Amino acid sequence: MYYIGIDVGGTNLVAGLVNELGHIFNKVTTPVARDMTAEQFGAELVRMSRRLCEVGEIDPGKIESVGIGLPGAVDNKAGLFVQNPNMPFRDKNVPLREMFQREWDIPVFLGNDANCAAVGEYWAGAAKGCDPAVMVTLGTGIGGGLIIGGRLFTGFANAGMEIGHMIIQPNGILCGCGGRGCWERYGSATALIQLAQLEMERDRSSEMWTIVDGDSFKVSGRTPFQAARLGDAAAKRVLANYLQGLSIGMINLVNILQPEIICLGGGVSNAEDDLLLNPLRELVWRGCFDKDHHVRIEKASLGNDAGVVGAALLENLV
Ligand SMILES: [Zn+2]
Repeated sequence: MYYIGIDVGGTNLVAGLVNELGHIFNKVTTPVARDMTAEQFGAELVRMSRRLCEVGEIDPGKIESVGIGLPGAVDNKAGLFVQNPNMPFRDKNVPLREMFQREWDIPVFLGNDANCAAVGEYWAGAAKGCDPAVMVTLGTGIGGGLIIGGRLFTGFANAGMEIGHMIIQPNGILCGCGGRGCWERYGSATALIQLAQLEMERDRSSEMWTIVDGDSFKVSGRTPFQAARLGDAAAKRVLANYLQGLSIGMINLVNILQPEIICLGGGVSNAEDDLLLNPLRELVWRGCFDKDHHVRIEKASLGNDAGVVGAALLENLV
């Protein structure tokens, strides 16, 4: 069986021809034009899907369905791209399914990108066969997805797993959502960078300064890990702080859902195990209510392909 999965990002659209095992046969990528309208966006998704069939020499009639992973709020029941802070067009409630089907009459499924990553990892990645399975993506913010009972959980109005905005600190750091103390202000890649920059201001002799050539704007999520590897005390403090914040949200997820596995994705998750996953497991296991059943905490395995694979396989879980 063949599926098409499209991973929509703010800068690139990536479409892939995928089979039921999550194997990608081929991909096509198109940059997002700065002045792209919602209509042009819809038309581009159809064009890319047709192109995939040509390149893969697949009869379009053999495609089971098209799944679209979107960076924003999505209503799959109504077929709408509800809201998007990340695309050039600002229209609300773009009727994406209808737009696609006007050109190509085929089942179309829509999903939020973090949810698609969860579907991908559950179907073909590190969370295969685990239920419930939680996917946590550490990026600019923290995205999340939950597969429970073999189904993608979305909540009654599709905002069910905005885990980045669970509050872990009363009157804490101000968040982009308007709230204070949201988890993503402590556990995202952005938070890690800010913690590193703060610590660097306190400690001018930190190795982190050498790594970024004296320019604190060059600090990335990798910087504190690189410096900690060199034994830098300031970097170790940064990581200890960061891991504490990251672990609190995960402990909350475990206490509420008791997932079999939590998969971590995003750039930060590529850090070496002795600096990230191992200490994180210790903190989470120690902090959870049920100390007899340890949640598995693993690196997501599909990497950049999770979005395409998850979008393609949405049909099976929604
Ligand atoms: Zn928030």
